[in-house]
Amino acid sequence: MSLTSVTDAYDAVIVGSGPNGLSAAIRLALEGLHVKVFEASDTIGGGMRTKELIQAGFHHDVCSAIHPMAISSPFLKKLPLDQYGLRWIHPDYAAAHPLDDEPAAILSHDLHETAFKLEKDEKRYKSIVTPLVENWDELTKDFLGPLGLPKNPLKMASFGFKGLQPASLYRKRFKTERAQALFAGLAAHSMLPLSSFATSAIGLVFFGTAHTGGWPLPEGGSQSIAGAMASYLKNLGGEIETDMKIERLDQLPESKAVLFDLTPFQVMDIVGDAFPASYVRKLKKFRYGPGAFKIDYILKEPVPWRDPECKKAGTVHLGGTFDEVAESEKQMAGGGHPDKPFVLVAQQSIFDKSRTPDNRHTLWAYCHVPNASTVNMTAAIERQIERFAPGFRDVIEKRRIMNTLDFQLYNSNYVGGDINGGSQDVRQLFSRPVSFTSPYATPANGIYFCSSSTPPGGGVHGMCGYHAATHALKQEFGIAGSDLKFTI
Ligand SMILES: Cc1cc2nc3c(=O)[nH]c(=O)nc-3n(C[C@H](O)[C@H](O)[C@H](O)COP(=O)(O)OP(=O)(O)OC[C@H]3O[C@@H](n4cnc5c(N)ncnc54)[C@H](O)[C@@H]3O)c2cc1C
Repeated sequence: MSLTSVTDAYDAVIVGSGPNGLSAAIRLALEGLHVKVFEASDTIGGGMRTKELIQAGFHHDVCSAIHPMAISSPFLKKLPLDQYGLRWIHPDYAAAHPLDDEPAAILSHDLHETAFKLEKDEKRYKSIVTPLVENWDELTKDFLGPLGLPKNPLKMASFGFKGLQPASLYRKRFKTERAQALFAGLAAHSMLPLSSFATSAIGLVFFGTAHTGGWPLPEGGSQSIAGAMASYLKNLGGEIETDMKIERLDQLPESKAVLFDLTPFQVMDIVGDAFPASYVRKLKKFRYGPGAFKIDYILKEPVPWRDPECKKAGTVHLGGTFDEVAESEKQMAGGGHPDKPFVLVAQQSIFDKSRTPDNRHTLWAYCHVPNASTVNMTAAIERQIERFAPGFRDVIEKRRIMNTLDFQLYNSNYVGGDINGGSQDVRQLFSRPVSFTSPYATPANGIYFCSSSTPPGGGVHGMCGYHAATHALKQEFGIAGSDLKFTI
């Protein structure tokens, strides 16, 4: 299916219509370039698709669900996506982290409310998080970009000093179990053992997002972000063709630049010997990270959380104490399948009635598993939900599971089920896929990476696409500096 008519030549073509592919295309089109996106699947969006996975009328986010990164993205927030149908819904709380013997830790949009609910850690929370929030707009431009000279060196240095620490060390800044557990749940989004360098940065960034843009979900599902981006792109003159899997360069029309919203292994296959052997050797060293095991549910009623405050949160992190979450991620990183996994839950239908046809509910839950794992984690995930919501099993009507291989089949970017386009450990965070200095460009003329396999990595923020397109504008089209019509 072709969404728009085909012409013969383009300034640039983009392979893949994930958040980064669409961002790259929009970035180029904003400078007046003629662009076209090719998408293998029959629908656009990559990790932003919403589908009736189980039964007609029930809309499940297949991959991404909650969007602190999208709403904080210096690029996406400058686009008029609201005029193209994107409506953000803000749950009462960004996240809840229930515990066995005490009230859940609550991450609210309001910094003071969050701090207040952390009781004995109130002052410590404020002193850690307030400077981040006060400098948020400047900091996001630095940590959502490639490694380079920071735009705000002093502020970035202060953040970097804290962020580089392993979460297992930085947790000591908090004294209570509740604050430490909340921090563990955020740091565990890194999909790394919490003793790894830079896991604090992930935790701190997620604190910052909660108190700035929040942790919203799009009305109708994540597909609405893709839909709004595609409509805006078309309005700028861009074209999109779906059902078009690119397997060789000669399938692409003539253009000055090709930007791949794909990961290194796929691009190597497509490009063949257009890459010099020395570059291929480096790309082959690219490391993929852990995968996801996910369950989508139709529920007869909302999850019966023991602490009713959890029902007000869009996201619920299940794993118990800091030590338990750390143990689960450590086992997973070592190739194991923990009995008590860290589980990320999103309960979109409580806040967005358009997700279901009646008063039943959807639920989205996944845990981290080793790359390419085929172990069925259903029982372990449901034990964790039941632990904090006794009676959960009784409200399940239907479920559908996806293991790492299902994810890779669904979207070939999820190599071995890796949802971040490559491991995000400190060695690979800024040098993805190979180089610190120019991560987006390749040695082949006009060929660029623009996926989450480039900095700043996984998540729906479009910043990989934005930076890749900015590089291509300069290198291929001589558009830079004061010649740019659009800047962030
Ligand atoms: C279970 C799960 C939960 C997640 N939760 C969140 C969340 O809540 N919030 C968040 O911010 N992020 C989340 N993510 C991560 C997020 O979805 C990804 O990091 C993001 O989508 C990566 O964007 P991308 O543009 O780099 O690639 P993708 O989104 O993967 O897009 C790549 C596109 O390229 C297409 N493609 C692949 N090969 C070809 C080819 N040969 N020819 C043409 N097209 C091709 C694919 O079909 C796909 O559409 C989640 C991911 C998963 C799987």
